[in-house]
Amino acid sequence: LGLFTQSLALALHNALLFDRLERLAALDPLTGVYNRRFGMTRLHEEFGRTLRMEAPLGVVMFDLDHFKQVNDVYGHLTGDRVLLRMAKVARSVMREGDILVRYGGEEFLAILPGASAKDVFEIADRVRRKVEQSSVASGEDVIKVTVSAGGVSYPETDVGSETELVDMADKALYQAKESGRNCVVM
Ligand code: GH3
Ligand code: MG
Ligand code: MG
Repeated sequence: LGLFTQSLALALHNALLFDRLERLAALDPLTGVYNRRFGMTRLHEEFGRTLRMEAPLGVVMFDLDHFKQVNDVYGHLTGDRVLLRMAKVARSVMREGDILVRYGGEEFLAILPGASAKDVFEIADRVRRKVEQSSVASGEDVIKVTVSAGGVSYPETDVGSETELVDMADKALYQAKESGRNCVVM
């Protein structure tokens, strides 16, 4: 019985360790949201599910506005805190089952299963407004940032793959930047 308990404990320990490592490998260490590699795997799965279920799939690409200035003026560590705030704000708006991914340095991809173009716009704009209203303190200073977003929903926008969907969101984001930032373009 003693031997059995011992090996059971070891197996349990290994299982927990594996689970923890697996989770760590999927997460961005700074913000705690999914990293790009894991995020793209999840997006691939969600796109497949969308095709089978004939339910919509929305995605939003967010990019902080003039973020380089935040780093230049307040330093990288403060910039990191702004990124963390951005991730928190986005998560607070998103529903359970939605997936937030740190796609690049200051770019976040939101994967929104079941979201129509109208839903995508509403969620993205709510994140945009909340970011606009929030601030991060740095000593005496209060740092305010804004975010631009590009959104798209399948099948309202008909694409052949999930990478095309991200591409379309990227293009919309580019237009949001072009048209003055702090806005959402679909
Ligand atoms: P735009 O409004 O056109 O998006 O301007 P921008 O300054 O945000 O864009 P740009 O791509 O020129 O700069 C992105 C900046 O994000 C540059 C880089 O220093 C910063 N950045 C990327 N990753 C990190 C990070 O992990 N931490 C911090 N603090 N900054 C980061
Ligand atoms: Mg960028
Ligand atoms: Mg930027």
